[in-house]
Amino acid sequence: MRPGYNPQTVLQRVLVLERQQGFQDRAAVGGLGAFARGQLERAGQSPHAGLLAAANLLEQYASADRRGREAAVSAALRAILTGTDAAPALPGLPPPHSPSPSVSTMAPTTRVDRPSPAVRTPLETVHQPEDLDRSLDSLKGMRKATAQALERLSVKTIRDLLFFFPRDHYDYTDTRSISRLRLGQKSTLVGTIQNVRNNRTRRGIVITTATISDDSGTVAVRWFNQPYLMQTLPVGARIAITGEPDVHNGYITFTPRDYELIKDLDLADTTHTGRLVPVYPLTRGLYQRSLRQLVRRTLDEYAGALQDYLPPDVSRAHDLGSLPHAIRQYHFPEDVREKSEAERRLAFDELFMVQLGLLMRKREWQQPLPDISIQVDHELLSRLFESLPFRLTNAQRRVITEILDDMSRPVPMSRLLQGDVGSGKTVVAAAALLQAVQAGKQGVLMAPTEILAEQHDRTLRQLLEPFGVHTELLIGSTPRAQRRAAYQSAADGLAQVVVGTHTLIQEGLEFARLGLAITDEQHRFGVEQRAVLRTKGLHPHILAMTATPIPRTLAMTIYGDLDVSALDEMPPGRLPVITTWSRTPVEAYGVVRDEVRQRRQAYVICPVIEESMESDMRSVMAEHKELQKLTFPDLNVGLLHGRMKPAEKEATLDAFRRGDYQILVATSVVEVGIDVPNATVMVIRDAHRFGLAQLHQFRGRVGRGGDQAYCVLLSAVEGDDARERLEALTATENGFELAEEDLRLRGPGEFWGTRQSGLPELRVAQLGDLPTIELARRAALEVLERDPDLSDPAHRALRDQVHLFWAASADLS
Ligand code: ADP
Ligand code: MG
Repeated sequence: MRPGYNPQTVLQRVLVLERQQGFQDRAAVGGLGAFARGQLERAGQSPHAGLLAAANLLEQYASADRRGREAAVSAALRAILTGTDAAPALPGLPPPHSPSPSVSTMAPTTRVDRPSPAVRTPLETVHQPEDLDRSLDSLKGMRKATAQALERLSVKTIRDLLFFFPRDHYDYTDTRSISRLRLGQKSTLVGTIQNVRNNRTRRGIVITTATISDDSGTVAVRWFNQPYLMQTLPVGARIAITGEPDVHNGYITFTPRDYELIKDLDLADTTHTGRLVPVYPLTRGLYQRSLRQLVRRTLDEYAGALQDYLPPDVSRAHDLGSLPHAIRQYHFPEDVREKSEAERRLAFDELFMVQLGLLMRKREWQQPLPDISIQVDHELLSRLFESLPFRLTNAQRRVITEILDDMSRPVPMSRLLQGDVGSGKTVVAAAALLQAVQAGKQGVLMAPTEILAEQHDRTLRQLLEPFGVHTELLIGSTPRAQRRAAYQSAADGLAQVVVGTHTLIQEGLEFARLGLAITDEQHRFGVEQRAVLRTKGLHPHILAMTATPIPRTLAMTIYGDLDVSALDEMPPGRLPVITTWSRTPVEAYGVVRDEVRQRRQAYVICPVIEESMESDMRSVMAEHKELQKLTFPDLNVGLLHGRMKPAEKEATLDAFRRGDYQILVATSVVEVGIDVPNATVMVIRDAHRFGLAQLHQFRGRVGRGGDQAYCVLLSAVEGDDARERLEALTATENGFELAEEDLRLRGPGEFWGTRQSGLPELRVAQLGDLPTIELARRAALEVLERDPDLSDPAHRALRDQVHLFWAASADLS
């Protein structure tokens, strides 16, 4: 006999098939009786007892009538499934060498051979792919309440339901006869219900006890407070139960986790027990068991109608199974391996759709537009460089060249500039803007906050006014009249550079000849901005700048449609910020005192504006009061938070910049971009409240002027999670290392929710799964090289799927 060949399993499959075909004795060539005898012969000297029994039962199969055949198939299946080879060790008899004394009532033995489940052939209802887009109501027996509950989870069509994946699986595969149950070990048993009764305890709890037996023994199964089970558990019925054996008052009991009646004795086809059982996310009005059944029926009926959109050469190259198979197995896997294969296929699909969408969008975005190219004036560039109070780093020069190269081409640039805090991105932006203006175009620089927009406005004026560049600032607090004038001058083309907040610029602004759009510190950039600009009929070069260190893995998923430049070198003379973690403020304020004595300044960050009943987090209000009144009565302590009026905020920040305040107490409004080189101390209260990336941003506010700077993390929290984060921060100053660490600690979902990234929702794939991302990207490039817009009829299903997949996200116009 071939190794791994299981005659009883083969016979079992044929029996299931025979039943599906209506007992016509056509499932096996030569008839079932002969087939069973053949399998018995193959089994050799010591056949499986169940197989022996089954072969006997099927002896007269050919001559039996329909009812006789039904009975014989059922009995044969039962013989195989319950493995009547199990020489029952009677409960109560301790086994000779029990490894664990506490389980002396049950014999620890090897597990009962679980027949490998037959692959279920779906019922022969032939559905067309279009049927999958019908609403859930069209499913037979669909209850309105269930449909409504599913709708709340965005499951509206039959296709949605097929793609509504379990969040986990319970491993209920360990199937045993009663005599072989082991105390405390989760397993599944199959038996007959002998009797059922409800008892009410003195405390009013209803206990339903069912006595279940199989050929090897009997157990009592107890449910609590589910009296209705009396009606659903008929005496004499076959039942599969997954749970844990227990001892109660000296009796063996069985604490059930799930159960199901096995009407047709086919354990291979269970839904709630005896297998890897799916666990679905629920909402009010949805119940695990009925949802499982619903998905199960829907899979049987409709999975076959799913069109496999993957091009065959892609599936072949990556050895991926078919879509219907993957979908079935991801819900109801035959085993762990099948589940992970299904997961591999579905994760690949998602990342493939992401990459196809991004690459197609990039191509569309980058259609040539003759008058967009900007010829670089090198002489002007040198003059700009010479006017700077510092020498550019090599990284800055390289990045400027990359950007200007892009801008000189007749296709719009879409480039992401990544540079850690303080790496000097602003001057790079200035160089690009100057070239756009020089070529007769307009430029715009968008910032996420008013504070930052004002700071950029100031810097750009300083750098570019000497070259005659006319700059306008547009923020919420700009007076109405002045704002209108700025809009007008942008529309006339008079304003050569406009600086403002994202929102204002996206709302009403028109440009005469926009050539370059830059966004600063905008992590979701790309998707939305381009959509907005495009609706205005604008196709400028686009540069997105970010200091949020994005791990390479994520950058590739999220910015697959952007080219990336990296400022990977700090301006010279910067000393690493000395970062410490303190439990009490005393030490921190010692550092502040020392630095202020040397005419330096300090930030103190708190997580909340005001104290509240719900939290014990330090508030800026309390901190400001305490520092000004008690700790540093001799100094000027400023206060900055998001609830202040824009003009107040700006006045405070100006005062800090001028040195009127030695200390600035602030919320996370100072997180991004603020540049006050004389500030050398950053104190962060309740530091554990902030994410790693954010803490790194705060720290980046100091150490910008060439003096030694300090960052003190204040936190008395002892949790592992917080400690790992704070220790990581004290250990390295490299933003990218920290980002990878953050990704490891919190996962991509936390670091960067897919929703925020502007990507469609990923259900199976992981944002950080670099190997699969790379495979998917390569596959997408190959497909698009041959068929750039997927217009080939052979790619029809693929194109539909890309659109379906991206439909939910911001723009795929
Ligand atoms: P970020 O990349 O965080 O936006 P900024 O553009 O605000 O950084 O620059 C941080 C500080 O470093 C600014 O004060 C800027 O003037 C200064 N800076 C930029 N480039 C250099 C350089 N090559 N050498 C010295 N200082 C520089
Ligand atoms: Mg900046």
